Amino acid sequence: MSPYFSQRYQDLKAYTPGEQPKQRKYIKLNTNESPFPPAPGVREKVAEEVQRLNLYSDPESSLLRQKLAERLGIGAENLIMTNGSDEALNYAFMAFCDEERPAVFPDITYGFYPVFARINRLPFREIPLTADFRIDPRDYDGIPGTLFLANPNAPTGLALDLDVIEDLLLRRKEHILVVDEAYVDFGGESAVKLIDRYENLIVTRTFSKSRSLAGLRLGFAAAAPERIQEMKTMQYSTNPYNVDRLAQAAGIACLEADEYNLENVKKVCETRSWTRARLEEMGFEMTDSRTNFLFVRHPAFPGSRLRDALREKGILIRWFDQERIRDWSRITIGAQEEMETLVHAVQQLLEE
Ligand code: PMP
Repeated sequence: MSPYFSQRYQDLKAYTPGEQPKQRKYIKLNTNESPFPPAPGVREKVAEEVQRLNLYSDPESSLLRQKLAERLGIGAENLIMTNGSDEALNYAFMAFCDEERPAVFPDITYGFYPVFARINRLPFREIPLTADFRIDPRDYDGIPGTLFLANPNAPTGLALDLDVIEDLLLRRKEHILVVDEAYVDFGGESAVKLIDRYENLIVTRTFSKSRSLAGLRLGFAAAAPERIQEMKTMQYSTNPYNVDRLAQAAGIACLEADEYNLENVKKVCETRSWTRARLEEMGFEMTDSRTNFLFVRHPAFPGSRLRDALREKGILIRWFDQERIRDWSRITIGAQEEMETLVHAVQQLLEE
């Protein structure tokens, strides 16, 4: 570390994003992106907005927020728009955690949570998932702090029912619960409908997965108006123009053609069932994923071996160098043809 780098961050381990290859053309099943292009209309709206890039964006994302609020059946005052849902999560760490209120999350979950805690110099506590990777709400009894739960969870793909979320909200009334719903459209049940009733609930969502806009960086949080104001204090203290003009324009166009996105979600879920069945036939074990990825394990090709072997064949998947899940791999559900290529490649590997 150089003598210039802040002492505060000497031990910081940054989040490692999945690879975005530039040389060879791979089938990318490593970062849970959508295989489908953005909704029709996005390109035109973005092109139009380019003319206005000399002006700063609306820090309130007013038009987009209004459209999204209508779509979700909530008020615009219940929403804050962010640069990807990662930013919404970061605001939640900043706004709702401190020395007395540590961040609490499962030991196996989205790898950015400990990074958000560290960069904000916040204490955090990891609660082990059960042996079969489930979240047992009783494990959180008597543990103070702001709880972050990805629902469905990543990389396990497992979802909690809404009544469990509600139970946690009631049992932990004096604590904030942040529900990260990045993957909810693929088979989870959204807690957005609960925000009117629970002032300790924050729900974060993204346009990156089910709405094919990962490269745009657009996300949001839904909560009671007071919580939104608290998160906005973080926004206005770090990056008031956090959602740029192109993202606001694209977000609006995307919502105007939302049936297209719903259709794509349906396709991903169908391809997920198909891929699941093929992989099970080949001896893979997997969780009951409610997301756009499968979390799998094969006795002949545990963890990084499967990743390395598939990479040789031009397919990228994700492996996590973490103790309890070292034998597992996460495979994004791509287009049907991509998954057929994957299945074929795995068949070859098992025969070799
Ligand atoms: N939460 C989870 C569980 C994720 O897997 C991701 C994607 N890496 C995100 C949040 C953030 O996604 P984005 O910033 O693209 O909205």
